[in-house]
Amino acid sequence: MSNLLPEMPVNDEQATELISILIQQIEEYNFQYYVQDTPSVPDAEYDRLIKKLTHLELKFPHLADSNSPTQKVGGEALKGFKQITHATPMLSLDNVFEEQEFEAFAKRIVERLKSTQSADKLDFVGEPKLDGLAISLVYREGRLQHAATRGDGRVGEDVTHNIRTIASVPLKLRGDFPDYLDVRGEVFMPREVFSQLNQQAIKNSEKTFANPRNAAAGSLRQLDPQITAKRKLAVYFYAIGSAQEGSLKSSHQQRLNQLKSWGLPICAEIKRLQGVAACQQYYQSILNKRDQLPYDIDGVVFKINSIEQQRDLGFVAKAPRWAIAHKFPAQEEITELLAVDFQVGRTGAVTPVARLKPVNVAGVIVSNATLHNMDEIERLDIRVGDKVIIRRAGDVIPQIVSVVKQQRKTESVVIDRPNHCPVCHSLVEKEADQAIYRCTGGLICSAQRTQSIIHFSSRKAMDIDGLGDKLIEQLCDAELVNNLADLYRLKFEQLIELPRMAEKSANNVLDSIEKSKQTTLAKFLYSLGIREVGEVTAMNLANQYKELDKIIVADKESFESIKDIGPVAAEHLVNFFVNEDNRKIVSDLIQLGVNWPRIEEKRTINYLCWDKLGC
Ligand code: NAD
Repeated sequence: MSNLLPEMPVNDEQATELISILIQQIEEYNFQYYVQDTPSVPDAEYDRLIKKLTHLELKFPHLADSNSPTQKVGGEALKGFKQITHATPMLSLDNVFEEQEFEAFAKRIVERLKSTQSADKLDFVGEPKLDGLAISLVYREGRLQHAATRGDGRVGEDVTHNIRTIASVPLKLRGDFPDYLDVRGEVFMPREVFSQLNQQAIKNSEKTFANPRNAAAGSLRQLDPQITAKRKLAVYFYAIGSAQEGSLKSSHQQRLNQLKSWGLPICAEIKRLQGVAACQQYYQSILNKRDQLPYDIDGVVFKINSIEQQRDLGFVAKAPRWAIAHKFPAQEEITELLAVDFQVGRTGAVTPVARLKPVNVAGVIVSNATLHNMDEIERLDIRVGDKVIIRRAGDVIPQIVSVVKQQRKTESVVIDRPNHCPVCHSLVEKEADQAIYRCTGGLICSAQRTQSIIHFSSRKAMDIDGLGDKLIEQLCDAELVNNLADLYRLKFEQLIELPRMAEKSANNVLDSIEKSKQTTLAKFLYSLGIREVGEVTAMNLANQYKELDKIIVADKESFESIKDIGPVAAEHLVNFFVNEDNRKIVSDLIQLGVNWPRIEEKRTINYLCWDKLGC
């Protein structure tokens, strides 16, 4: 959307038109996000529109509308819920994205406080910005009286029954609590719970949630508390709306400690910070920790610690002047799906890969994303030409989380499943009861051959150091290696002929190949790439049979009697070893020098009971 907007207008007429388009679009996004819990664009896109509108309102102040979304807290209370008017409004936070913006914020505070204190001496508290939804809990005489969502900041939804299902919410406060307390916090869904919830939804062919925030909001705003109870939500408290006169300490940090002493959970990462530099260090340290935390955060919040200074600073329309959110680079972005390619793996599985218009997601340019399988394409209802939302969190491979259906063009192209292998053109077949499509070409398929050699050489298999994926592809393309055993037939004269291969590297590769001959039976079995035979199964097979010859002739029943081997893996094992080509490769490998130490029978010592022996 933002790319489609006209450039910055030069006169009132153009500005009025653009302001009106922006307000309409932002209000639609607010409705989808706050009311329906199903945003259609990533936060970064929404934030760009808000920034553009704010900029316009500053440039054309006489056209600014007091009802603009820049002046209001986003949501509105759903009609299905009883409504609760907050005794003290629940506000939002202003935000910054750059260090310089934060420095400017600190400078404004110093000026407003008319303080002689420099920004380096300002007393802040830094807190992770939890990505969930705001909640207000009112306790009277220590007992939870009611709980309400933020809504439009003035009126929220009564979610008392649902809040009661959250294990960490105390129904009764402890210690020396005030008679009246309105405490504010964030309800969120831990990442682990979110991923289980979505996996279950995919299994049941139900709609998945785009991210933990939407899952938390959707789970708390349920009319049936039993559903909320199953969603295992969590909460951290971070502020006091109001409380009985005289019951509260004079700094934010002390107040957080009071909340803790009354049994209300507080985030463990909160820290007191002196000056701008300390805040920036804190920002960096929490950003570094972001992926290790068990919950999603989208930035850090800095709050002036002294309550007296907070009072002096006061509020603007929808946010306090004494706090700011320094947001992290967005983990979700919007881009276009340019094409879908199909890649063939070692076992012939044909996997769709999305080719994307390159986009910066959390600091990394993303141009490919996995689509897992054809079912995923159908589930997302994705077409070439669609605008898609990409998520990249931590080391996880970028994923397409959803399609912006509202922006679908008529010329978008439906993605058909491939009938033939894109590499060897053999037929592609769907596996019964599974979402996997497989190339039937077997060893004819050069993609399968290359992938099986990559697997064979990998660290957990034969561990051929220095034989990278690119070199294996070169060896296969040059037909120097057509099967696993060919690796051990490679000669220096052949390697040195390859482009960019120096004498030293050729010798290093040959040395690593030679070294890899010394292995273990378990690693050897794993390296053969038999379907369903992972490291643990290979280990169990080696421990049970101890000799390869016994494994080669074992039947299905014999395999099934081994720990963790089910009928499917047993069948793959039998099929692998009855195949003449496979048997030849296995025997060639041994002929060429692959070997492992004998596995000794474990000596079992029977300890006899002295009593029974009559001793
Ligand atoms: P916000 O989420 O940027 O910041 C305010 C909120 O932060 C508070 O209400 C509170 O819920 C939360 N918070 C978390 N940790 C906190 C802490 N330690 N102390 C204080 N507050 C803390 O502002 P908002 O008004 O709730 O929402 C605006 C944002 O929501 C936008 O910037 C955008 O990211 C997102 N949004 C997205 C869409 C969309 O379509 N994708 C639509 C609307 C809003």
